[in-house]
Amino acid sequence: MTGRLWSWVVSALLLAITSVSAQAATELRSLRIESQPDTTQIRIDLSASTPTRWFVLDQPRRLVVDLSNTVKSKQVLPPASGAVRALRAGPQANGDLRLVFEIDPAAQLQPVGTDGSSNRTAALAFSLTSSPGTSVAGASTVVAPVGRAPLKEVKAAHAPPTSGREVIVAIDAGHGGQDPGAIGRAGTYEKDVVLDISKRLAARINQEPGMRAVLTRDGDYFLKHRERIRRARAAGAQLFVSVHADAVRDPSVSGSSVYVLSEKGASDEQSRWLADRENAADLAGGISLDDKDPVIASVLVDLAQSAQIGQSVVAAERVLRSLRRVNEVRKPQVQQAGFLVLKSPDIPSMLVETAFISSPSDERLLNIESKRAELADAIFDGVRQFFLDHPPEGSRFALERERDRARTVVATAPEAAAAGKL
Ligand SMILES: [Zn+2]
Repeated sequence: MTGRLWSWVVSALLLAITSVSAQAATELRSLRIESQPDTTQIRIDLSASTPTRWFVLDQPRRLVVDLSNTVKSKQVLPPASGAVRALRAGPQANGDLRLVFEIDPAAQLQPVGTDGSSNRTAALAFSLTSSPGTSVAGASTVVAPVGRAPLKEVKAAHAPPTSGREVIVAIDAGHGGQDPGAIGRAGTYEKDVVLDISKRLAARINQEPGMRAVLTRDGDYFLKHRERIRRARAAGAQLFVSVHADAVRDPSVSGSSVYVLSEKGASDEQSRWLADRENAADLAGGISLDDKDPVIASVLVDLAQSAQIGQSVVAAERVLRSLRRVNEVRKPQVQQAGFLVLKSPDIPSMLVETAFISSPSDERLLNIESKRAELADAIFDGVRQFFLDHPPEGSRFALERERDRARTVVATAPEAAAAGKL
């Protein structure tokens, strides 16, 4: 299909979704997540009673709630906390609103005050209880003693910046186990140096407020590409960074490069995604594909993947720019290729070739601990800059940006200056 035809189909589709939403009678009044050390409550309030349906999916474990003929309007989603690791809301083509909560696989899910998974109601609540001994990732807001009711409403707009959701970055150390990757002339294994750089990068990210890293592998073992992507999605990653060290026959070739997925690689992957029902069940944003006409489903995957590549280029440019500080850069622009590991349709993804392990000078560099630390720091700086420039909704980055804007307004008000409030 040509680009013009795609954009026509997309506009028609968006128009269809919008017009269905416009007729919706019910409104999502509030969505609250209250977390205590071992219990997390999800409360959903609607403007009117409407048929609702919920179910649980695995890998990643998620609670899916479908609200019939409902609109989100301006309701801001609360940050994920406690046993809820991520959440999203997406209008469905049939006018339903789908809420998707990624939940701790170890938590016990219990509907509160409903007896079935299908009901007509104006309020829904779920409780997630962690089994003893399991840690609840991201538990941050301790609100009220257990059992206290009614639950206090948390308004994201008035919350301090520290309450923003963490952005999750998946760090993928290339190769591992029986796959050593490239091997340098002096005997350096790619799988070892990239694991070290990845661990340093993850540690640096975890020191940064508002950011959290997950490693797809943290030891010397083999993972298939799709398993790497699956782990990143299961963790709710908002960015995927695969760390490698390049190799070519010519030992004089050296330097760093950064790759994102090519359009060709993307279109090859779309048919696979559509064929794979488990993957295709829902895209980020809560968009379900399993109930869609095949043409609409392929448009949705195409849209998600084009957006993914666009965001990936923006993020990769920042990483390439900061790598320039610590190593020569092989190519001045972000490169595009069909690497399998970049083919997630909904997570911006990049592959960093930190250096050429086939170049004796780069191999030497990769063997110096302080140089590996510098490479990790440079990747971190680029990633952080990306989130500063493009803060995800509800993230700490987004809240800090709002706070800074509010400050700017105060700073320019003359009466504030006169009152000495600066
Ligand atoms: Zn590699």
